[in-house]
Amino acid sequence: MIERDTVIGGAVSTVERFPGHRVDRGSSAHLMIRHSGIIEELDLASHGLRYIDCDPWGFAPAEPGSGGRGIVFWRDLDRTCESIARACSPRDARAYREFVKVWAPRSSHVMRAFSAPPSGPHLLRSFWGLDSGGDPAQLSREFLSPGDAVLDEFFTNERLKAALAWFGAQSGPPMSEPGTAPMVGFAALMHVLPPGRAVGGSGALTAALARRLEADGGSITCGDAAVSLAQHNGGWTVTTESGTQLRTPVVIAGCHVLTTLDLLAEGKFDGARLADWRKRIRVGPGIGMAVRVRARTLPIYPTVDEDAAVIGASLQLLATDRAHLRAAHGAALAGELPPRPVSLAMSFSAIDPSLAPPGEHQLTLWSQWHPFSPREKDWDTLADREADRIQAELERFAPGFSGSILDRHVQTPKGLADELGLIGGNVMHVEMGLDQMMMWRPVPALAGQKVPGAPGVYLTGASTHPGGGVSGFSGRSAARLAIHDARLPRRLRRGLTWPR
Ligand SMILES: Cc1cc2nc3c(=O)[nH]c(=O)nc-3n(C[C@H](O)[C@H](O)[C@H](O)COP(=O)(O)OP(=O)(O)OC[C@H]3O[C@@H](n4cnc5c(N)ncnc54)[C@H](O)[C@@H]3O)c2cc1C
Repeated sequence: MIERDTVIGGAVSTVERFPGHRVDRGSSAHLMIRHSGIIEELDLASHGLRYIDCDPWGFAPAEPGSGGRGIVFWRDLDRTCESIARACSPRDARAYREFVKVWAPRSSHVMRAFSAPPSGPHLLRSFWGLDSGGDPAQLSREFLSPGDAVLDEFFTNERLKAALAWFGAQSGPPMSEPGTAPMVGFAALMHVLPPGRAVGGSGALTAALARRLEADGGSITCGDAAVSLAQHNGGWTVTTESGTQLRTPVVIAGCHVLTTLDLLAEGKFDGARLADWRKRIRVGPGIGMAVRVRARTLPIYPTVDEDAAVIGASLQLLATDRAHLRAAHGAALAGELPPRPVSLAMSFSAIDPSLAPPGEHQLTLWSQWHPFSPREKDWDTLADREADRIQAELERFAPGFSGSILDRHVQTPKGLADELGLIGGNVMHVEMGLDQMMMWRPVPALAGQKVPGAPGVYLTGASTHPGGGVSGFSGRSAARLAIHDARLPRRLRRGLTWPR
């Protein structure tokens, strides 16, 4: 494995940003990979990986001063419904139970669809047996509808809708976009298996994968980027920045798809084809930014009875009205900063003491939507001011927390691009809009995770189906494709590319 960075794992890595603190560079909560079976298949537990369940997995505080109560989403559905009945209404609690009944099985089928390249037969097999209520057209419409439409269909309480919309929007798009219903519906699956926190930080998953790779005889080179991929006598030559040349029959490219296209261009691959794919790939205006905080205490939310250490396990969804989300997204489209940042707080030192030294805590504030290229000023000028506004959002819901902050590290969209190679600051690589999902991700010609005209090159990572987030799905699919093709006679292998 060849890695450009001196740290492996890209957006699934953890480093020491403050003395004695293990701080994630990208992702913090692992949701999809826990539903993939990959952890068990690779026996990562034997390679040191241990997860703590995030239970409760979600918390949505009430608007300060409203007299309302926060909503706590436990793994246990009954307990969650009790919280919704208290915070919203008994009617919404009943509706939530129905929502989980409808969307948990649907989401399980979606997870199946994620486990191989999105060919017609695979998608058919994945959704086979799903109860359509005798009306497949209506079912398909529900899958393709905006997440907001699902929320409006089930619920009356705006706070509940806002919390679930903000959960769904963690995939990137706003829940007003068509095709986002499954992103909201994924919440139902959190009652089957909640998000997990890898002990020691998100990078503990990468560390376990690296140990597994090395145990299987693989090797890892860091700090030496691939600079070209060139076809050579039926195989490939990978040249790195240091000048090393590796000859190999198979390349699995896990970097951003635009980076892979650059590497192929350096290797003299058909320029016209590359230009055609490149112009169709939508990276989008940027998604968000993160503020990592070293603090003396955990945030204390007055609108909930549970202890701060209990709420510390959850994704703290700091939005009480979808208008808040819509205003932020609309502003980003226009190149503006959000009128009020929409923030998600995670304070996992509450459940994993290895993250911070005794007497200290660590908190991540993830915020959407922030444009990669703000019209106003550049990110070097805006970083601290924007981080202050993100912190102020938490302060509204958990008054007094700011006073306990000892230090912070700000990751702007530009900073994420510079440090992690996330082009355009998009943490999902390319937009997660309907036109770039499934058999259209990143473009139809590349959706089979192969490159037409480049036999032996396989694509993986967030740029490919099923997209961004910590899932491992596309890596397993690429590996299976490579193994499958290697077993075929050479003559047949050449012809095997995705239909364009
Ligand atoms: C701040 C932040 C918070 C997030 N939070 C969450 C979360 O809580 N939960 C969640 O599920 N997801 C989250 N995500 C999204 C998730 O982490 C990413 O979508 C996912 O990790 C992408 O993984 P990847 O392996 O496809 O790509 P990347 O993580 O982008 O990895 C690509 C790798 O390729 C390397 N590379 C690039 N160019 C070259 C080259 N020329 N030669 C060699 N190597 C190269 C890069 O250095 C990098 O290591 C977050 C992301 C960020 C940035």
